[in-house]
Amino acid sequence: MGQKSIEIVKQSGLNVKELVEKLQSAYADECLAYIQYWEGARIPVGILSKNLADEMTEHATEELEHANLIAKRIMELGATVPVGPKAWLNKSTCGCFEPLDSNVMALLEQNISSERCAIDVYKDLADYTRGKDDITYKLAVKILEEETEHEQDLEDIKNDMETMLD
Ligand code: FE
Ligand code: FE
Ligand code: MG
Repeated sequence: MGQKSIEIVKQSGLNVKELVEKLQSAYADECLAYIQYWEGARIPVGILSKNLADEMTEHATEELEHANLIAKRIMELGATVPVGPKAWLNKSTCGCFEPLDSNVMALLEQNISSERCAIDVYKDLADYTRGKDDITYKLAVKILEEETEHEQDLEDIKNDMETMLD
């Protein structure tokens, strides 16, 4: 536990319990995002399926890294991460799409929508911590940048797909 860090957050006027809850929810989102990508990367079929599978595998790794970074901050704030898929689903804001349709376009649409949800989550966390908790703020902005890249990467494949189908 980072006692001094907790003290600084309290002095900034932030409610530590509320901040921890936001981080636990983001952690749950990241665990589910990891699973959604990792599993999804195994199933695409058809045009551009290899491109999509490669991108999804890369994104899975990045979502796992986000979960790691958030877990570190939760522990510094004296709390623990939500454990197990039931707790993740319970705490998550963005949830988890089951990639039941192996069609490239269907997978793209699911994951673009998940990235847009993630962007909202980190924009909210950045706004909440701005000028108050520098460490969480920096983390939120760093992850926000990466979720924005994820959305763009998937949109690029979707555009290629649409051009090919035209
Ligand atoms: Fe993420
Ligand atoms: Fe992402
Ligand atoms: Mg990428």
